[in-house]
Amino acid sequence: MPHKHAVILLIFIALGVFVGAFCGWYLGESMLQIEWLGKLFLNALKMMIIPLIVAAVISGVASMGDIRKLERLGGITVLYYISTTAIAVFIGLIMVNIIQPGAELNISGGVIPDKVLGKEETGISDILLSMVSPNLVKSASETKLLPLILFSILFSAALTTLGEKGKPVLAFFDGLNEAMMKLVTWLMYLAPLGIFALVAARLGMAGGGEAFLNEIKAVGLHVITVLSGLAIHFIVLYLVLFFIAKRGFSYLTTMLRALLTAFGTASSSATLPLTMECAKENKVDERALRFTIPIGSTINMDGTALYEAAAVMFIAQAYGMDMSLGQQAIIFITATLAAIGAAGIPEAGLVTMVIVLQAVGLPLEGIGLLLAVDWFLDRFRTTVNVWGDAVGAAVVHRFLPEARNP
Ligand code: ASP
Repeated sequence: MPHKHAVILLIFIALGVFVGAFCGWYLGESMLQIEWLGKLFLNALKMMIIPLIVAAVISGVASMGDIRKLERLGGITVLYYISTTAIAVFIGLIMVNIIQPGAELNISGGVIPDKVLGKEETGISDILLSMVSPNLVKSASETKLLPLILFSILFSAALTTLGEKGKPVLAFFDGLNEAMMKLVTWLMYLAPLGIFALVAARLGMAGGGEAFLNEIKAVGLHVITVLSGLAIHFIVLYLVLFFIAKRGFSYLTTMLRALLTAFGTASSSATLPLTMECAKENKVDERALRFTIPIGSTINMDGTALYEAAAVMFIAQAYGMDMSLGQQAIIFITATLAAIGAAGIPEAGLVTMVIVLQAVGLPLEGIGLLLAVDWFLDRFRTTVNVWGDAVGAAVVHRFLPEARNP
């Protein structure tokens, strides 16, 4: 996308968020009438995901040429994901220990929210099981991306061993990837309107500004804890970008279109096409971005990890249960795993939180405390999730031996 168009579009997307928030705040439920507009945009984004992810990963992995390069790159990618997610959880735990958001609440009882009903038994083995699918078409239809990505990596590795016979198939996926990226640049022009409608309708659904403020007040300190933790982590990631990936502020400004879309949609999967397009405009090497961003959008969720740790500690405080250092270590590990297992869809983190709560013996009913504000915090943590993927692509680019550094 030409630079001038990108800047104008960014201004309109930002306006979409602000005007959407304004209309949702003052016009309340009547904004639900334009919900379909947001859905239209969201569906169009989702329409892109499956062909884009499959084509990007297959062509990206194959373009590394040598399987040893993939190993090295895979290693750097995994190291980046694990260390940044761990830092995020750590920040979450520190903030919640300092602010003590649930200390004054004194809650007992409660009911398990609908969202979690039927998922009480979710465990760590479920995360591993979700990586391999018995039916790829079914996974695709449910936008379960992890099995598709794993299959695409293996498929691509197999293709590269075939020599001449594999080449036309690879060329096909390469062309498919290019065509999908073209579609994404067209779709971006819909973003301002789509994001406006998504934000306005969601705030409208919450009953408008006044009603929303009342909901927030009840768990105000929890909101402050999570938002300040996310802000700190956003800056930490920026420092990683600056010192390790050696990129400047313009990387962030080019990425803003994707970040605002993450805020508008609350879904890192739906944002994936834009994250890739913005990384491409930032001149991230195609091999790095085709490989890391699709994987990152499903397993690298720093914002979600931070949120899970902070929210579980909040629930413990509200129920008057003291979490020892050992229990906090368990929260640390399970929150990281729960974030990896969370799908890139709205409020997925709330469901995988079951794993963390059960690991330290906290009541699942506690999730009820978070429901009213979760949709709001979800937007911020999704933005951090996408920012983490974007920085990851730049870091991996830096370590590609022959990539040209801009
Ligand atoms: N909505 C988040 C995402 O798509 C996941 C979550 O934390 O609920 O990245």
